[in-house]
Amino acid sequence: MTQPIDLRALDLFALCRKGESLAGDVAVRDLPRILAETAAQAPASAPDETFAYTATGFVREEAAEPGAAVAQRLFLDVTVRGRMWLDCQRCLTPYAQPIETSTRFEVVESEEAADAAPMDDDEVDVIAGSKRFSLLELIEDEVLLALPVAPKHDVCPTVHESLVTGSDGEARPEAEPEEEKRPSPFAVLAGLKTRH
Ligand SMILES: [Zn+2]
Repeated sequence: MTQPIDLRALDLFALCRKGESLAGDVAVRDLPRILAETAAQAPASAPDETFAYTATGFVREEAAEPGAAVAQRLFLDVTVRGRMWLDCQRCLTPYAQPIETSTRFEVVESEEAADAAPMDDDEVDVIAGSKRFSLLELIEDEVLLALPVAPKHDVCPTVHESLVTGSDGEARPEAEPEEEKRPSPFAVLAGLKTRH
């Protein structure tokens, strides 16, 4: 019997060492930070929408630096695909932002090891592994990091009247979107990790 996978508490070290691969869908309703950032006027079905993910672990035997002893390094490739309802900053109506991410992580033993990891490798993000690792939170992180700085329709269906340029040619300051009144997902993530 195989145990059902608990995406909130999986043994990430074992997944990497066994070279296992997971794939499935997670519902927006199970991703509280995504839910919190979903446009208020999004369709009622938005929490039922899903992100498709894959997570593939693998091991590389290599020296951390030339001349060093060969060590086992653990890696995790994660992809997330779906869409998220955001408020367009131009017309203030909700739209579905496509999300598609593909990230390689090096999995290290602890938070301390992650903090100590050299930052010179732009290709790989370092994360602390755990025997009770939340892949759900990692998927959330991936979606939040993939959000555009200024969410906008490619082409707005209509222009909100508050954004219409005044006769003096200046946009009115009160037309600024309301996002500034609440913490942005980017502020929340600022301390989480550095992404190039
Ligand atoms: Zn728009």
